[in-house]
Amino acid sequence: MKIYILADMEGISGIRRMEEVKSEFASDYAHGCQLMMQDINVVVDACFNAGATEVVVADTHGGGGQVRMGDMDQRAVYEIPGKGMMMPSLDETFDGVILFGHHAKAGTVDGFLDHTMSSAAWFEYRLNDVEMGEIGIEAAWAGQFDVPVIMVQGDEATAREAKETLGEVECAVVKWGVGRNKAKCLPLTKAHAVVRETAERAVKNCKTFKPFKPTMPGTIQVTYYRSDMADGYHSKSDIERIDGRTIRKKITSLKDVCSF
Ligand SMILES: [Zn+2]
Repeated sequence: MKIYILADMEGISGIRRMEEVKSEFASDYAHGCQLMMQDINVVVDACFNAGATEVVVADTHGGGGQVRMGDMDQRAVYEIPGKGMMMPSLDETFDGVILFGHHAKAGTVDGFLDHTMSSAAWFEYRLNDVEMGEIGIEAAWAGQFDVPVIMVQGDEATAREAKETLGEVECAVVKWGVGRNKAKCLPLTKAHAVVRETAERAVKNCKTFKPFKPTMPGTIQVTYYRSDMADGYHSKSDIERIDGRTIRKKITSLKDVCSF
């Protein structure tokens, strides 16, 4: 059984301040990376305990590269996402995806560090006219290979969004947003226990989850915060300007759900 773990940072157990996910705050960020590595090691161990034979992990936050290889569980394989390749090794041979350390979409009340792809630029994203966040975008990308998202970890708002977007999915809630920029966190031993129990249940039952496959051909649409952020797309023939801040593109494959 093959499991893919896409690990973002905002929803990681114990991370409760914005500075812990921003590399310009060196000592806070180093602490955040430490928490992320501990948390990933817990979920990787749980996957193998529950019967996984191969586990691939991508650390994706800010382009990736949070984990130090010497500190990681040596049974898994580690990679970093690239442009258009959210989960580079993912293919039809995988049995499930775990969206780990995730966050709610832009504009979510009490979503810790809520955003969609770019907290500086993206106000709203729509796939086939349905508003969704990174959970939906990544689940649809995995859907091109018929691989379901089996578990999502993060704050309570993230879990709520995961169930609204995907339906049946295991959720590990390890924190609660207090406004946008702070979170109330479970202590690490409890959070790690929640991660372990949830991951073991998800992997054992991974055949029961359904891939997320919005109808194709379809459309993707982004509304930016300001109109100048959409200006650059004027010249692209496959992109339609809907209004000052909004662009839309027709796509034929789920591999293009984030192809602006
Ligand atoms: Zn992130």
